[in-house]
Amino acid sequence: MRKVKNLIVGCGLSGIVLAERLASQRGEEVLIIDRRNHIGGNIYDYKDKATGITVHQYGPHAFHTNNKKVWDYLNQFTRFYPMNLKVSAYIDGQTVPVPFNFNSIEKLFPHFIAEKLEKKLVERFGYDVKVPILTLKKENDEDLKFLADFVYRNVFEGYTIKQWNLEPDNIDAEVMARVPVFIGRDDRYFQDKYQGIPWNGYTAMVKKMLSNNLIKVELETDFKDIKNEIEAERIFYSGAIDEFFEYSEGTLPYRSLRFDILIKNVEKEQPTTTINYPNNYDWTRVCEHKHFLNEKSQQTVLSYEYPEAFVEGKNERYYPINNSETQQLYNQYLNKAKELKNVYFIGRLGDYKYYNMDQTIARALELFEGVK
Ligand SMILES: Cc1cc2nc3c(=O)[nH]c(=O)nc-3n(C[C@H](O)[C@H](O)[C@H](O)COP(=O)(O)OP(=O)(O)OC[C@H]3O[C@@H](n4cnc5c(N)ncnc54)[C@H](O)[C@@H]3O)c2cc1C
Repeated sequence: MRKVKNLIVGCGLSGIVLAERLASQRGEEVLIIDRRNHIGGNIYDYKDKATGITVHQYGPHAFHTNNKKVWDYLNQFTRFYPMNLKVSAYIDGQTVPVPFNFNSIEKLFPHFIAEKLEKKLVERFGYDVKVPILTLKKENDEDLKFLADFVYRNVFEGYTIKQWNLEPDNIDAEVMARVPVFIGRDDRYFQDKYQGIPWNGYTAMVKKMLSNNLIKVELETDFKDIKNEIEAERIFYSGAIDEFFEYSEGTLPYRSLRFDILIKNVEKEQPTTTINYPNNYDWTRVCEHKHFLNEKSQQTVLSYEYPEAFVEGKNERYYPINNSETQQLYNQYLNKAKELKNVYFIGRLGDYKYYNMDQTIARALELFEGVK
């Protein structure tokens, strides 16, 4: 039987932060395993050999946070290339900024309508603010209601149906309530205080985080194949919680994605990093990777993103499907987890929660501080 102090399952961001902290702050040995053949989990990126462009293999990742602690933590391992994500939506043959703002309104509506809508929005809500479309819908004013309906139908509805394979009637009203209209001209997708892309990419950043001699990484190693051969004082598990318990309570559903990555012989294809396609084609969005680090090349790399059902062994788990039924099932696993000593579940698969990168890091730092 092989003995280790800390076994971390999953070499994604959650596992990497924990490994880094245990080694650097407590001087403890860590074995971190992953069944994939690379480090980084879903934030893994690589330099495409033909073009020299850094490609985000598992979809576009833009770092953004208001959490200074998380920002300072990451800045120990990388400088950030200042980059504000910009996203457009392809509507009526035009690409317009999303969240929908004054620039979008002016691209899609005749001047006199745009002017009227903007004036009413500013008078009612002020300038430089985000307003959920459900709030607009509840207004007595016919023009504001019209705008809310337009944004809902053209920006949100088709995208959500493709992304989640839902009928329009089954779209959660709460989800709809969060779709914003931005009153102003700020084209950035996020307004967070800290935003950027690791200067040499995410993989270089996590490599540095793992560079402590106390950390050993073993790839192409599945927990289920080694669990009977290894004795660990503590296990941190960032794989799927239902898989850990061999699906004893049932299967937690996920939505998956397929990425078709394409090189094109044009210098630049898109005005923004990402274009969403709510109403056309089968893909939900197309990402042009050279925008992240403003990389120069005569060619460009694009990834077309197709949502699909998660099927074990065929594709990856990406998005937990959150509803009262799945939450109940997850809680059953959580209760089982509480009975275990020295096994900690973490990350978007272990916690069955959609975490952005900053939330993933905050959660791992918090767990580290609480571990005896
Ligand atoms: C398409 C997409 C776009 C995103 N864009 C953004 C963005 O722009 N900004 C942002 O902040 N966040 C973004 N995120 C979220 C971000 O990817 C996550 O916050 C982060 O990657 C979570 O890290 P994790 O370690 O919890 O999970 P993961 O990265 O999934 O890592 C878990 C690892 O565990 C391994 N594993 C699982 N089971 C086993 C097992 N039994 N044995 C061995 N290894 C196992 C897996 O192979 C995987 O490598 C995006 C996510 C997706 C899916």
